[in-house]
Amino acid sequence: MSESKDESAAPNFVRDIIADDLRSGKHPQIVTRFPPEPNGYLHIGHAKAICVDFGLAKEFGGRCTLRFDDTNPVKEETEFVESIKEDIAWLGFEWSDIRFTSDYFDQLYAWAEDLIRAGKAYVDSQSAEQMKEGRGDFGTPGTNSPYRDRSVEENLDLFRRMKAGEFAEGAHVLRAKIDMASPNMNMRDPALYRILHAHHHRTGDAWHIYPTYDYAHGQSDAIEHVTHSLCTLEFEAHRPLYEWFIDNLDVPSKPRQIEFARLNFTYMVMSKRKLRQLVEEDHVLGWDDPRMPTLSGMRRRGFSPAAIVNLCERVGVSKRNSQVDVSLLEHAVRDDLNQHSPRHMGVMRPLEVVLENFPDDHTEWFEAPQFPGREDGGGTRRIPLTKVVYVEHDDFMEEPVKKWRRLAPGVEVRLRYAALVTCKEVVKNDVGDVVRLVCTWDPEAKGGNPADGRKVKGTIHWVSAEHGVPATVRNYDRLFSVENPGAGETNFLDQLNPDSLEVLEGARVEPDLAQAEPGTRIQFERLGYYCVDPDSSPDALVINRTITLRDSWAKKS
Ligand code: ATP
Ligand code: MG
Repeated sequence: MSESKDESAAPNFVRDIIADDLRSGKHPQIVTRFPPEPNGYLHIGHAKAICVDFGLAKEFGGRCTLRFDDTNPVKEETEFVESIKEDIAWLGFEWSDIRFTSDYFDQLYAWAEDLIRAGKAYVDSQSAEQMKEGRGDFGTPGTNSPYRDRSVEENLDLFRRMKAGEFAEGAHVLRAKIDMASPNMNMRDPALYRILHAHHHRTGDAWHIYPTYDYAHGQSDAIEHVTHSLCTLEFEAHRPLYEWFIDNLDVPSKPRQIEFARLNFTYMVMSKRKLRQLVEEDHVLGWDDPRMPTLSGMRRRGFSPAAIVNLCERVGVSKRNSQVDVSLLEHAVRDDLNQHSPRHMGVMRPLEVVLENFPDDHTEWFEAPQFPGREDGGGTRRIPLTKVVYVEHDDFMEEPVKKWRRLAPGVEVRLRYAALVTCKEVVKNDVGDVVRLVCTWDPEAKGGNPADGRKVKGTIHWVSAEHGVPATVRNYDRLFSVENPGAGETNFLDQLNPDSLEVLEGARVEPDLAQAEPGTRIQFERLGYYCVDPDSSPDALVINRTITLRDSWAKKS
């Protein structure tokens, strides 16, 4: 997956539409917006919308507004506003402006009065129950509300009193007067304003009525002179309503809504409701838990923004909803980390090895390439060898299976970059566990190259006991153990992968990692890609496993 962006780019019909509109001169410049509701953290699905909204604006020299869709004060918080900004910037995109739908509350209200004056909106005083009944369903046309023919004066009076806070929640609703028999349910006199005596994170207690998404969205687009209002497919059936408002109001521009398919992955849940539940019921450690599909979780886990943007480019933009195999994302992550993560050695489950013929109190330093695959090695790091080293417990077998190429009694292996060692003795504790190996090393084969040219097949990673740095390593795996958590009658919470987090307290890593800043991404050779967690400090290193070198799930299934 190392092709350039253009070769790997999948079809994107929105890009084609924009290119046409610019070529035909319909728009001299395009304007888009990304409209998150600040009621949760952004997830990888949002990354696709971000790549489409910001990415296409950038590609075509247009601009993209970040607009917080803050019309539902009950669920929205400033914490989410800040996290959303951070995530977009992390992905590498820039907004031309930040706006809030609440910036337009006065204008939206004025337009609602215009609709009332034009006889195109009315205050309905039915109960929620009665309104639901009156809407009918797909097979049955709705029935007109008994309040539908209120006079303009009465409607204006009631609407102004709704605004002033005179009525209880649910007492009245402002509805558009369109067509209760429309085959499109969204056109059956949709609600424009509902009464909510709620504190808003920006407008405080100024408002007692709040606009619906449908009423606010298109008009906000028009105010911002958005040319292409890009959203996901579930809004397709809302488009006639979007256009009805634009056509019936004196708005400053005429935006066009275009819908594209959502991004979904196997082994993930993406709805904010479910993500919130995972956080609030402590199934994970927070919105940025490295197992979460949130961008903050993926960042903490060690995914690079480039991997996520490349993935979105590869998936493309179409009108067909589908589920992407999570291994495609993992592949994109491995591919990017492989190119950018310097190599180190780390031993996860240390087994002590004493080199009996190595001088006491001596350190032998070796140079090792940061990127062994590159011609120039990509720079070097210095690695100390001492009399006692740690190797991976899994790299020793007392009674080796066939084709075993790692440590075993009597077998010679290479300590990567440094030495050839032969296992002479196995030391066990009272209960028979192997606790130490006594080996000899070949002083003539420094760097691991035998003078006589003999073949040494196995190469294992290791860390000096004296110089190595202790680390806590958190191994992450998929959060769910089934492809479609929550599908059918199942409860997604019953399908959590019990092994999604494994904490190793006693790992040892190369000494130069002691100073590594949180967020530093590395590869531990032979194991996988890792990064330093924000919980880390210079005297207590905490490292996350981002992903193993190879796909261990491919084997399982
Ligand atoms: P959820 O349904 O999970 O709560 P949402 O769609 O309500 O998500 P918003 O904050 O309203 O979340 O979304 C902001 C933008 O991101 C919208 O334009 C929405 O269409 C888009 N978006 C959300 N989820 C996805 C997804 N899975 N794939 C692509 N775009 C998405
Ligand atoms: Mg939404």
